[in-house]
Amino acid sequence: MNYIGVIDCNNFFVSCERLFRPDLVGKPVVVLSSNDGCVVARSQEVKDMGVPMGVPIFQIKDMIKDKGIITFSSHFALYRDISSRVFTVVKTLLPTREIYSIDEAFFTISAHSKAELEATLRAMKIEIERQVGIPVSLAVAATKTQAKYANRLAKKSGGVTVLDPADWEALTPMIPLQNIWGVGGKLEMRYKNAGLVTVADLIACPKSRIASMFGIVGVRLQAELAGMPMYAVSEVHAPQKSIMSSRSFEKNVTEIAVVKDAVAYHLRQVVAELRHLRLKTKNLSIFLGTSRHGDYLLRGGSLGVENMTPTDDIVFLLKQAFALVDRLYDAEVPYKKAGVYISGFSPKTVIQQSLFTDTDEVTYSPINDLLDGFNARYGADMVTIGTHTKERKWQSKSEQKSPAYTTRWSDLAVVKT
Ligand SMILES: [Mg+2]
Repeated sequence: MNYIGVIDCNNFFVSCERLFRPDLVGKPVVVLSSNDGCVVARSQEVKDMGVPMGVPIFQIKDMIKDKGIITFSSHFALYRDISSRVFTVVKTLLPTREIYSIDEAFFTISAHSKAELEATLRAMKIEIERQVGIPVSLAVAATKTQAKYANRLAKKSGGVTVLDPADWEALTPMIPLQNIWGVGGKLEMRYKNAGLVTVADLIACPKSRIASMFGIVGVRLQAELAGMPMYAVSEVHAPQKSIMSSRSFEKNVTEIAVVKDAVAYHLRQVVAELRHLRLKTKNLSIFLGTSRHGDYLLRGGSLGVENMTPTDDIVFLLKQAFALVDRLYDAEVPYKKAGVYISGFSPKTVIQQSLFTDTDEVTYSPINDLLDGFNARYGADMVTIGTHTKERKWQSKSEQKSPAYTTRWSDLAVVKT
């Protein structure tokens, strides 16, 4: 039988942090959002304490203290690096897979028996954990939607779950629709109002009724839950719509050189991601923020350019970004934050010939390939381009951020024997 599966890293950001701090295994750990505002990842211990995802940190201040919860700031360069290590190994084990998010991929697999499949998945789990050190769960069923549910079970039962059609059918009267991938909030309420509470209810409902009440989305959901795949595992990455990088400064900044350094940093981040995804961008915007308090509140803002021909050229985009800073920057204003936003992507492989190439010439610098090479070898942002000052004067201290174990030589973990 052919199965569709999900491989998912357990508590991914926390697991990345623990990879280099094995002393934290078994201890409660959370990772916080970029500005240390909210919880974005929780270890199992923290989940068990009932701390919800996304909770603002101030709401659990006492708990952090009382229970000794260890907090980390987000360290995306590290997570992205570990993610690509995981998927490099996954690629050797599962030739047909679709990377779905930073820590998750769908795959197809066939097997003669359930026992054989379970053994194969168990071996893969062990192999990935041996090679990368990140705990993963593998779950398979007949469709993507079923596999996503199977993965919830895998998380609670040793990391591997195989649901064959009979297993699934037996479960359907017990699975609330709200636990199904893509059903939540308003949609869940609409199903409930129609008297559909469990997966079995939805499967049993006449297709024509589903179609008239919930349209094509409902029909597809019903088919997926009934074991007929509506969503194929495609190796083409669903293109992202935009990428942003921004951060608050440690102190107010007035020098234009420092503002440009910050913008250059964020541009390198977004372009590295863009190139990693093999996309090109049309729109580039920068934004400068001022303090939320005081006289300068309304003095920041954003400016953008639209290129007729999509590009992924760092040199070209840097020039544009700096030109935008020159226009937006005001020497009298103390800035508190800077960021870069790109959108309007197209795949790198599609050559879009602009009608306006004369007026909108996009060059391509060999520096890009050089930078990609450095980034791949030494980690993101080892080599900086477009920097005006020696220190990163603008960089805010993410004080609890873990060292750049995988991306900076000086931060390599030291092994003592
Ligand atoms: Mg995960």
